[in-house]
Amino acid sequence: MSWKVGNVRIKRIIELEAVGGSRFLLPQATYDEVKKLPWLAPKFATEDGKLILAVQSLLVETPNRRIIVDTGIGNDKQDRNVPTWNNLQKPFLEDLAKAGFPPDSIDTVLCTHLHVDHVGWNTKLVGGKWVPTFTKARYVFGKTEYDYWKANAPSPTHAAVFEDSVKPVVDAGLVDLIPSDHKLTDEITMIPTPGHSPGHMSIHIKSAGEEGLLTGDAAHHPVQMFHLGWSSTADSDGEQAARTRRELFSRFADKPVLTIGGHFSAGYIMREGDGFKYVAA
Ligand SMILES: [Zn+2]
Repeated sequence: MSWKVGNVRIKRIIELEAVGGSRFLLPQATYDEVKKLPWLAPKFATEDGKLILAVQSLLVETPNRRIIVDTGIGNDKQDRNVPTWNNLQKPFLEDLAKAGFPPDSIDTVLCTHLHVDHVGWNTKLVGGKWVPTFTKARYVFGKTEYDYWKANAPSPTHAAVFEDSVKPVVDAGLVDLIPSDHKLTDEITMIPTPGHSPGHMSIHIKSAGEEGLLTGDAAHHPVQMFHLGWSSTADSDGEQAARTRRELFSRFADKPVLTIGGHFSAGYIMREGDGFKYVAA
């Protein structure tokens, strides 16, 4: 679960992984429909059509930065829309340390968007208070995304997420708000990919002649590369999300661009019919 793009190393740390049970997210992805796409098995779906989805972080190490991309659900959180995500108790920080990335060694926390399963470990509960987990890091959020969630709480979960996982790091003075096409380092540039959320960003990596793409939740699952119009129930604007997918995957298809999703592992995007398929790396 580690890859290289030129001089950039990427590691995948899984907080949770589930087989099946994704019908609430992608209602069109029935077992029968999934089985029609044999290239999904065994890495991204089972032979009997169950989707495999993870909640995960990506550790991105450039020659001079140590970045965590997205921070999962987090421990001890409450009022989550998925009941099993409440009061989670996972050894996520221990797993980071085992991978060589203890929290204090991380200098940048980069959130593709500010949904419940991408900001959780921004904070941890200490003495009844939410405090920043990555005390030596700058937290980098898209300005469009932050402004939206600061002004809007469409559900109690959205309000809780902002309150316990976003606001405390802002209050601690650790946040930098960036435009959605921001160049973060020599190797890393953001790509605006709105639709899943209003200010969603994907991440383009270029180093030593090689390229990588971290899609974030532009697609929740590779099944949406073929079925570009299968927007997830979590997308804030399904039609915009579908247009964004076509644009993003068209740009990187049929090229040696190592791709990793917000909820799935590494592969390459290839044209297939009117859409795309995903070939495991
Ligand atoms: Zn997500």
